[in-house]
Amino acid sequence: MQPLILEQASQFGGNCKGESIGTNLYSLGPAYISIPETNSPSHRMLNEIGVLKYGRVETAAQKEVFLNGKVLPNFWSGAHESPTVFAQMKQVLKKYKDNPAAFNHMSVNQWLRQYFPHITTTLYEYFQYYAWSSFGGTLDEIAAGEFLSWQASEQNGILVFPGGNSLITQLLFQNLRAAVGPAQLRTKSAVLKVIPGNGFVDVVVEESLYKLKTIRTKFVVMAAPKFVAKKIISPIPANQLRVMDSIEYRSFMVGNVTLRKTIPSKGFDLYCLKKEIPKIPTPNATFSRGFTDVIFSNWAQGDKGSPCTLTFYKAFPYQGARQFLLSPFAHNKHRDFLLTELQNYYPELGITNSDIGAVRMTLWGHSVPVCQAGLASSKELALASQPIGNIVFANQDNLVSPAYESSESTALEAANHILRRFR
Ligand SMILES: Cc1cc2nc3c(=O)[nH]c(=O)nc-3n(C[C@H](O)[C@H](O)[C@H](O)COP(=O)(O)OP(=O)(O)OC[C@H]3O[C@@H](n4cnc5c(N)ncnc54)[C@H](O)[C@@H]3O)c2cc1C
Repeated sequence: MQPLILEQASQFGGNCKGESIGTNLYSLGPAYISIPETNSPSHRMLNEIGVLKYGRVETAAQKEVFLNGKVLPNFWSGAHESPTVFAQMKQVLKKYKDNPAAFNHMSVNQWLRQYFPHITTTLYEYFQYYAWSSFGGTLDEIAAGEFLSWQASEQNGILVFPGGNSLITQLLFQNLRAAVGPAQLRTKSAVLKVIPGNGFVDVVVEESLYKLKTIRTKFVVMAAPKFVAKKIISPIPANQLRVMDSIEYRSFMVGNVTLRKTIPSKGFDLYCLKKEIPKIPTPNATFSRGFTDVIFSNWAQGDKGSPCTLTFYKAFPYQGARQFLLSPFAHNKHRDFLLTELQNYYPELGITNSDIGAVRMTLWGHSVPVCQAGLASSKELALASQPIGNIVFANQDNLVSPAYESSESTALEAANHILRRFR
């Protein structure tokens, strides 16, 4: 078997991209994964490609947040608000680790009202920002089971690599190139049409400007999101197309601020809380602050990288943000929001204006599917990723779960599906 991998961008990695300045590696987006169980397929793959040895674990006890601009250590102890409520939540989360599907019919807010109405202000604020920043949706939208299983998994700690998840894609790329040869990995190759045939699939690729080529292959793994797949696969059964249409996607802004000065990391990913219930952003009343959370990229390198880069996240947890992000003014506008907000953190970080070196903004358009209550884990959703002839789907949106784990598990399923057909 000689797989051919076609990528429209000039680099592989999809959302998982990173950069380095000096000896510091930082992510332009995806930053961490859950800790894979020893000997699970994920653990074996990460070990085989040689990334696991670079990972650093952040435990729940190490979870810091900013509270009104000051670092609050061990957020999950609840010492700042109510140790009893935080302990109860940790206890409840244990039940949700392995069975998200059972509560995916209801939103997190519905679940909270029914099962945990006594939640405290900072815990709710943290959950709301986590929903925006990790799911691109609000607590009114996100499926409770999925949300709670992520929270439960984070109680066991998270696994962080230098450069975030881009180190995984980098090493995966290097391993693939060694295994199948560089000619089989093609960037700047946009797939324009995928046409299922009888025991084969025709793939129309734009190899370079005005140069189209049709490749006949036995199988296609469609790893692009459904909002692309539905436009390029033809024909698609009407009921499948309808479900593909129902998946919503959300936008993000990520800002990497490189400092002229080396400062110690205050933790890994710190949410910026105020002990206030956040107002839900809408297209007409957007989130007034510059970011919800900040990552100290140097944390993954044990503070050995230089210079320091801080990575700021701002999600747009509503439909229709993408069109505004594409405007040429968006970069500057969001950079100014970010830098103005950052000034509130100068005293705690021990920096001033003159320590700001470079700012790099990444505006992610339709980057993550919304894990809608009712849609996640439903039979309806499964229909969106039903194979069409010899086309199989592998993307985070198969599960509307915007995470490395869902991309990886759906890729494994697609590979097994094809291997079974060969046997
Ligand atoms: C800001 C941000 C932060 C995130 N943080 C985390 C995190 O900390 N941890 C985590 O686990 N997840 C995180 N995620 C979720 C992340 O999206 C997933 O982890 C994962 O990267 C999704 O991978 P994928 O392969 O399913 O999709 P994608 O990364 O979207 O890959 C799809 C690929 O298909 C290509 N493509 C599309 N159309 C075509 C075409 N016509 N022809 C050829 N190629 C095409 C695209 O260019 C792209 O490379 C984050 C996402 C964002 C945006």
